[in-house]
Amino acid sequence: MLPAVDSVASSSFSRRSFFRFAAGASALAAMPILTEPRLALAQIPKFADPNIGIHIDANENPLGPSEEARKAVVDILPRSGRYLFNMEMDLAETFAKLEGLAPETVRVFAGSSDPLHYTVLACTGKDRPLVIADPGYEAPMWAAKFSGAPILKVPLADPNGAASHDVKAMLAASSNPGVIYLCNPNNPTGTCTPRADIESLVSNAPKDAVILIDEAYIHFCTEPRSLDFVKEGRNVIVLRTFSKLYGMAGLRMGFAVGRKDLLAKLDFFGQNPLPITAMTAAKTSLLQTGLVATRRKIVGDTRVETLAWLKSEGYHCTPSESNCFMLDVKRPGKEVQAAMAAKEIFIGRIWPAWPSSVRITVGTPQEMMAFRKAFTEVMAQPPSATAGLEPPRLPGRLAETPFPHLS
Ligand code: PLP
Repeated sequence: MLPAVDSVASSSFSRRSFFRFAAGASALAAMPILTEPRLALAQIPKFADPNIGIHIDANENPLGPSEEARKAVVDILPRSGRYLFNMEMDLAETFAKLEGLAPETVRVFAGSSDPLHYTVLACTGKDRPLVIADPGYEAPMWAAKFSGAPILKVPLADPNGAASHDVKAMLAASSNPGVIYLCNPNNPTGTCTPRADIESLVSNAPKDAVILIDEAYIHFCTEPRSLDFVKEGRNVIVLRTFSKLYGMAGLRMGFAVGRKDLLAKLDFFGQNPLPITAMTAAKTSLLQTGLVATRRKIVGDTRVETLAWLKSEGYHCTPSESNCFMLDVKRPGKEVQAAMAAKEIFIGRIWPAWPSSVRITVGTPQEMMAFRKAFTEVMAQPPSATAGLEPPRLPGRLAETPFPHLS
């Protein structure tokens, strides 16, 4: 018996929302989309086969999709000969109902990278800067390079402490921002920005600036969510993804949530039909009681243990509430990254603003024990032993910079 996944809960959506024809097809064809794995690959050693060694470098979830989501994928396969557009509406409506949102404020995408790029491309420009925290997730900056917008990087407040977004400085950075990007919890630090600061940002931003709140990692923490800003009709777009807690980075599914007129700006870029495997896995995961809390605890316990061990060894880490954190290695981060890679433990990226820190993704308890062993060995060497080590780069298009034509 095939599941009745294409029954539409209601027809409150405009069909236009779901048949986003490529009004912006020529812009889309020319536009590069940048994702975390691409950024991780740009810094990863040559021959870093994902099947070899331990990969705690790209903020993936080693648990993968839940058992129920996997079963749903298998069950839907026989129907893969069809587009099943209705599943997109059904997924958006399911999420809207769970969150108390108006269905027309939810758009479904194959991950959150597409709406992230589209928002920056649509709302920034030569005279409309992008304001972003540093260190922060760089994808919006690459999109801003493409739109020709000035990029105003604002250092995180209290870098040796809470390392949250410096909302006051972000507001002061431009009188005419196109997009103010706030990632909560932040990638790469895993730190959260207090709700009062986010409220202040939303309330005090210039009236036509879009506040892009990226909640890719929000399920790992219990901090207040930002969807209520959309319910209130504020100039806010919230991004969600199934790539992190739900373990579906390779399946690809996500949401943009915003006022109808804001989402219309994203519609300009069109949309390919979405994979029905990912849509059914996403819906199944959303409806799975206890999944978020269970996984939050699994990742949280491992994170807390790892951070406690690093502290006992004398290292400073950011106070993460997510599946990644920054670790100060007190010598050039890229040398430690290279030395760890030689032991087939692939750790994450280095941000120019914090050159002696490396980003660590929280893996399984076993992976983190292997990390501890290799890290102890690497750091037991004097800095002179690792000095000058460089991870060998991938050849060709993935080398050095994700988009050579924009750098
Ligand atoms: N936003 C942040 C902060 C991320 O770290 C990532 C990926 O790591 C994304 C968005 C995009 O993820 P995806 O396109 O897989 O949903």
